[in-house]
Amino acid sequence: MKIIQPAKRTEKVTYAIRDLAVEADRLKAQGRKILNLNIGDPNVFDFVTPKHMVDAVHKAMLENKNGYSNSMGIDEAREAVVRESERKGIHATKENVLFSTGVSEGIDMLFASLMNPGENILTPTPGYPLYIASVHKFSGVLNQYMCSETNGWQPDPDDIRKRINGKTKGIVVINPNNPTGALYGKKVLHEIIEIANEHNLIIFADEIYDKIIFDGEKHVPMASISGDVPIVTLNGISKNYLSPGWRIGWMTFSGSEKSFVEYREAVYRLARARLSPNHPMQFSVRHALEGPQDHIKETVRKCQERRDIVFRKMNEIEGFHLTKAKGAFYAFPGFDFPVKDDKEFVLGILREKGVLVVHGTGFGWEKPDHFRMVTLADPHTLSEACEKIGEYAWERFGKRKK
Ligand code: PLP
Repeated sequence: MKIIQPAKRTEKVTYAIRDLAVEADRLKAQGRKILNLNIGDPNVFDFVTPKHMVDAVHKAMLENKNGYSNSMGIDEAREAVVRESERKGIHATKENVLFSTGVSEGIDMLFASLMNPGENILTPTPGYPLYIASVHKFSGVLNQYMCSETNGWQPDPDDIRKRINGKTKGIVVINPNNPTGALYGKKVLHEIIEIANEHNLIIFADEIYDKIIFDGEKHVPMASISGDVPIVTLNGISKNYLSPGWRIGWMTFSGSEKSFVEYREAVYRLARARLSPNHPMQFSVRHALEGPQDHIKETVRKCQERRDIVFRKMNEIEGFHLTKAKGAFYAFPGFDFPVKDDKEFVLGILREKGVLVVHGTGFGWEKPDHFRMVTLADPHTLSEACEKIGEYAWERFGKRKK
């Protein structure tokens, strides 16, 4: 029989975070002990979904809420998101809230509905790889704007301006950012809003880590300051509410309704075509957003302590440098060794030291001189992992880049 050929558009669809795990699994099958610091899944470490959320889902399941839900999501959850938006200073209505199978599915529906082949949506580098994958999946052209390490990994508005062309349809802003943990100030957010306004672009504000913020700083919800500019805020329970396996996310359209109404309808058409998001898990959302929030304080405390350890360790080891994360649970250290292929570099760390981190180019970063480490493990494990990474680099290269 002839070989079945996959569609061309899948060729560039990669997801570095999980692609590397294939090699880690192979080593585990040989009996090796591997420390996975590749996936941002708090439940793999010492973080547990709040019990009142589990109870709400359990109750829904026992009440046989196990059929399909409304394609947009259940009213109770959509209304809870409206109230949450109002608390954040975002004007939202139930009709503008759509639930999805995690923010991941939301990104796919949003990109599929906006981008014709050959068009582009500006995405940050470094940035979350799903955005890159989604651009390729829908035959778009990758167009990445720089976040500047020397400026605390803040987005560079001049670079955004330079990259806009006749085929640009939107701008993605991930705040706090994955992989850098950077938290964006009002000034840069206003500048991006201004650019979007000048060029008639829609903004995608991915704020999935907005409650995991360190050092007493405040997160600024982009849609609370964007006025009439059309904006889709993405959020969910995966990270703030420690339940990534439930696959519940949502998007909220705001700004001038006239400008986004046709686009929103296209997204909703796709949503109807995929029937419904996970039904019973949606019953956790009201309880998550409006029930006890104690776990957030504890999560922030633990993540900040772990952030501090990795920040100190990676800056102590010669040849490495790390900007302090202000939110989320990642570190994106740079290194100064003559590495040509950063994927080989992290595979080397994995094979020789049993620590799995992800190469920086997997986050759209162009130079092979960074990697991302998940900072959710306990302090001792993290400290040991940093030392092993340092040992590997010194054993392998002996000296730093000139
Ligand atoms: N957006 C960002 C910035 C992420 O880091 C992640 C997961 O790591 C997601 C979206 C995916 O979220 P979900 O679990 O809701 O699909």
